[in-house]
Amino acid sequence: MQQRPTENQRLILLNPGPVTLTERVRNALMAGDWCHREPEFAALLRDINLRLARVHGSLVQDYCAVTLAGSGTSAVEAMLASFAPDRQTTLVVANGVYGERMQRMLEAHGKPCRVVPHAWTAAVDLAAIETCLERDPSITHLAIVHHETTTGRLNDIAAVGRLCQARGVTMLLDAVSSFGAEQIDARVWNLGALAGTANKCLHGVPGLSFVLARNDLWAGPAMRAGSVYLDLHAYYAAQHRDGYSPFTLPVQTAFALHEALLEHAEQGGAEQRRGQYLARAGRIHAALSVSGVTTLLRPDEYSSVLWSYRLPEHRSYAELHAALKADGFIIYAGQGDLGRQIFRIAHMGDIREDDLLRLCTALTGNLGTRL
Ligand SMILES: *Cc1c(COP(=O)(O)O)cnc(C)c1O
Repeated sequence: MQQRPTENQRLILLNPGPVTLTERVRNALMAGDWCHREPEFAALLRDINLRLARVHGSLVQDYCAVTLAGSGTSAVEAMLASFAPDRQTTLVVANGVYGERMQRMLEAHGKPCRVVPHAWTAAVDLAAIETCLERDPSITHLAIVHHETTTGRLNDIAAVGRLCQARGVTMLLDAVSSFGAEQIDARVWNLGALAGTANKCLHGVPGLSFVLARNDLWAGPAMRAGSVYLDLHAYYAAQHRDGYSPFTLPVQTAFALHEALLEHAEQGGAEQRRGQYLARAGRIHAALSVSGVTTLLRPDEYSSVLWSYRLPEHRSYAELHAALKADGFIIYAGQGDLGRQIFRIAHMGDIREDDLLRLCTALTGNLGTRL
């Protein structure tokens, strides 16, 4: 059996969630044995949903959250199941694993969709999106990933949002790896709904995810969800009536999410978190540059949350991963064909100054110095 990290070994997770927890969030897990059908849990959940809508200022007025059990994928699938239309078409913009996953979800739910395919390393093709929207009047919705974690690219949602706004197309956004850090301009983007998770930029633990949707979508006719568990209108009816949920929620994960949301707000919110991630990205990029390691994309194309780097020649990912793990750092592999070409480093979680210093030393130590 693989040796497990011991209790006093501080492991720094540089994978795109789950993240290294703060003491405060970890301690919240121990708040007690609660029943999910008692009023104290209902009150906690109502507060979580309220606080989720306050994380990004542009959502406060017109958007409501529901929380469900499951990883980020379950929230994305629930969003598409509940809000992608049954008869009109959803245009999927796919430039990575997560965009392509949304296409698979729509197909699995039998919802009409068209895809604008891209290479995983490509920026969103605005001209191709505009052509689709112009030529196909059946397209009423557009599904896109905010931060495509496959490469670290922050998609130009502002530009796509302008196209949506101009044509009254409703945007459905996978914000799983951006919510809580990257800027979200809901109104300007004609955002109908977004999906997010507890355990990425919010710094909670895995097990809960959420969907924020505009009030007219909650009030509008329910689409054929094609699933009992993922029908968000059922969650909305229950959670906004009295705070209960149709199904059992992970109670301890909810304690942690609530604490993480308090901490997020106290520390200065999304803008502050983005700045913190960017500072970490700059430090790590500088250390890797010293070793001659280059980025997969241009530095200005990346999110604050995660960057991808080319594996140096003659270095395998497995070997680099093992060396860094021995130093207490977990890096992340590339997906698909990128698996042999890149490694990824995320900047989320409780990474302290001394962790960052040790990380930069470990990176240059393992990859060599080319000065
Ligand atoms: C992490 C992630 C998801 C969800 O993945 P899970 O494994 O279900 O947590 C979805 N979309 C993006 C962009 C992600 O980074």
